[in-house]
Amino acid sequence: MEFTIFHTGSGGNSFRLKFADDVQVLLDAGKTNHYNAFNDFCTRGDRVSNYAGMLISHAHKDHAGAVADFERVGMPRGVDAAPQLRVGVVPLVHDCPCNGYIIANTATREACVFLIDFTAIVSPRNFFTTLRWLVSEKYKVMFAVELSYCEFLYKKMPIEQRVGLDRHLSDEGFIELFKVVRHYCALENIVTLHASGREILNKGFHADVAPRDYLIKYLKVRLGAFINIGQNGMTYKF
Ligand SMILES: [Zn+2]
Ligand SMILES: [Zn+2]
Repeated sequence: MEFTIFHTGSGGNSFRLKFADDVQVLLDAGKTNHYNAFNDFCTRGDRVSNYAGMLISHAHKDHAGAVADFERVGMPRGVDAAPQLRVGVVPLVHDCPCNGYIIANTATREACVFLIDFTAIVSPRNFFTTLRWLVSEKYKVMFAVELSYCEFLYKKMPIEQRVGLDRHLSDEGFIELFKVVRHYCALENIVTLHASGREILNKGFHADVAPRDYLIKYLKVRLGAFINIGQNGMTYKF
């Protein structure tokens, strides 16, 4: 299974999930002044026919601004075109209705847990029950989960510069989540979202301010696992 970060962060989000049977899903379709997922799609010569469809987390423009452009060229909402896919919705706490997804491929027995723009899972019991089921059914599970900022830096910033971050997941929130996840499955196949990209360089206190190597080491100490810190333009193979 492959997870590609075309772009992530408040400047715009778009991702591609590709299973071993070549079935692909587009995750989020942001359009802002910094990034346009549809232009990116066209520029790289991508095609609607390459995808089962698209899943959108929530209506913020950095995640959904380009949805209408994709719909205009026939990209389906949802993944009904690929009957081997099963999608579980994971309602998330954000400042508007927001959904994470568990996308399971029953043919390849691979599953992706995609959680972005949140501070908590609304119904953790449902989420972990599904996770336990996937593991018991021998699915290979990968996680693409937000890690937007470092809490120790956040606490040092003036209040006016903290605007908006409190509706996102910090490194400490990420660690708390995975401390529970590790009761269900091994902590491997994980990539962080929403904290890479050039716009981060301009805002002083996102996760990327802590050097990537530092953050990898910090998560290794706290979780005992290697975590990929997601970067724009990168494909992660699991
Ligand atoms: Zn966002
Ligand atoms: Zn949002």
